[in-house]
Amino acid sequence: MNKYALIIEEFACWGCKACEVACKQEYNPVDAVDGAKYLSVWPDGPKVTNGKLDFVWRVNVCKHCEEPPCVQVCPAEAITKREDGIVILDSEKCNGCRLCIDECPYHAIVFDDENKTAAKCNLCHHRVDKGLYPACADNICLAHCIYFGDPAGIENQILEKKKVRGC
Ligand code: SF4
Repeated sequence: MNKYALIIEEFACWGCKACEVACKQEYNPVDAVDGAKYLSVWPDGPKVTNGKLDFVWRVNVCKHCEEPPCVQVCPAEAITKREDGIVILDSEKCNGCRLCIDECPYHAIVFDDENKTAAKCNLCHHRVDKGLYPACADNICLAHCIYFGDPAGIENQILEKKKVRGC
């Protein structure tokens, strides 16, 4: 099992996009306003589901899968999974073939038009290796729905919250 996980409880998301801003600040210089997004928040709805009006905010970001299909498909060996579970895409090695973009079931890899390479969330490994939280999970979520750390511990926290909410 992965040592680290980034889990977002979409049900509780307000759609404020503070995580999106934190991610862009961490990775893109100020002048790259339209640069590649590693994390994006988007509205799923309003729509009718089972006769009821339904709306939820979705957050697209790499899930750092247990068995990531993107790693297998990359001919340049540009994507690797670390022992702690973090899946890293090294854009220096990427040849821009886009196979990983097609393979990711979560649409978590984007194409960086400026650099002509694939790009995705590398779980802020440069921060994590210094004992810090990823930028999006560093206490910036107004709805407190972004969790980082031990996957089992996070599941317990979410269960406790659900008990309090009664759902
Ligand atoms: Fe999984 Fe997609 Fe992330 Fe690869 S890029 S680890 S397939 S979520």
